[in-house]
Amino acid sequence: MSTVSTHVFHRHLQRTPPTAVSGKGVYLTDAQGKTYIDASGGAAVSCLGHGHPDVLAAMHAQIDKLAYAHTSFFTTEVAEGLADKLIQSAPQGMSHVYFVSGGSEAMEATLKMARQYFVEIGQPQRQHFIARKQSYHGNTLGALAIGGNQWRREPFAPILMPVTHVSPCYPYREQQAGETPEKYGQRLALELEQAILAKGADQVMAFIAETVGGATAGVLAPVPGYFKAVREVCDRYGVLLILDEVMCGMGRTGTLHACEQEGVVPDLLAVAKGLGGGYQPIGAVLAQARIVDAMREGSGFFQHGHTYLGHAVACAAALAVQQVFERDNLMAQVRARGDFLQNLMHSAWDEHPHVGDIRGRGLFWGIELVQDRGLKTPFDPARRLHARIKQEAMARGLMVYPMGGTVDGQYGDHVLLAPPFIASETELTLVIDRLSSAMDAAISAV
Ligand code: PMP
Repeated sequence: MSTVSTHVFHRHLQRTPPTAVSGKGVYLTDAQGKTYIDASGGAAVSCLGHGHPDVLAAMHAQIDKLAYAHTSFFTTEVAEGLADKLIQSAPQGMSHVYFVSGGSEAMEATLKMARQYFVEIGQPQRQHFIARKQSYHGNTLGALAIGGNQWRREPFAPILMPVTHVSPCYPYREQQAGETPEKYGQRLALELEQAILAKGADQVMAFIAETVGGATAGVLAPVPGYFKAVREVCDRYGVLLILDEVMCGMGRTGTLHACEQEGVVPDLLAVAKGLGGGYQPIGAVLAQARIVDAMREGSGFFQHGHTYLGHAVACAAALAVQQVFERDNLMAQVRARGDFLQNLMHSAWDEHPHVGDIRGRGLFWGIELVQDRGLKTPFDPARRLHARIKQEAMARGLMVYPMGGTVDGQYGDHVLLAPPFIASETELTLVIDRLSSAMDAAISAV
């Protein structure tokens, strides 16, 4: 019996993906009984792998008590408990957590919080966002507008709100010869300052960035001092700093929040993916007290909301994920396994003619592939190397997250690795063996 429905509106309408039927640890199994090692956590989601008994038990216990209560009538113990937990470990000054169902919703909420904040404090003329090129913040219209992924934006560009996009922090391609990382970071902060001034210093609401870029440019970690310089510029003009840690947050880079490593505190911080670890759809915005206070003392109401926010079973799953992080000391494990993975990749590919850059933090890594290593020339985007890598990897029982280069061919194809935090050294070695073979097969085929 076929398990494939012909009625699901799959993203790719000309092919149907394999049917996943079960998951355990770092492995997923399809209806044919083939297993796949999940080296990307789906899309950097499954931080505890699949079938984690503690998370499942917490969800079962919650669902037996109460699955859902609408937030316009009730709060729940589990939502309160999760918010308390997240605030205990949050960057300084964060006082409240706004729950949503995923990353795009989290980013939409940050945009509306920023706007309402300025309305409440009597600065309604601030109407403009500045974000970065080569970024991704989600697929809903507001999140897509702030995102800088040309391919994703293109068909919808005429219906997106206007946003200024400044350069990303992309040292492999954009740090100039002879420029120190610190000077490069300062140059980028100056570019942001100029963009604010070009719009009018009192017209800009917020600057939005992924602390470590993910789904567009294959893991772009900031150079030292970049975010400190950015924070200073924002403060100088009363502009909010919104950090999107939907992908890079929740321990992925070796600290619960990636911004801890930058020594900066944002005004609003978006998390999702690893928050629920894929066990439930959940995201959240952590907000600075002054933003919440402005709304409380002003209209007394955040003019926003969705039906499933603070869903009890989703909060139970996320709370259990947090408890496992702590109990099993997983942040230290992410750093140690990340070092192991980094060494493996360097020994496998340091001499590889088509591996241009290996970059990342913790268990969040990007591999940028190039036609010519010396010149850093990307593969012709028309050859769709990334798609071929995914195909070759799946054939070898490996899930990785490949991304194409820019439409204009300026930046190259990438592979993103985001394995579960529980992956063993043996499993990580298997990942790199399979990926090497898949990359080589794909490169010779395109
Ligand atoms: N922001 C970032 C940085 C992301 O990587 C993603 C998803 N890849 C999103 C937002 C959107 O999240 P979601 O797909 O859960 O809506």
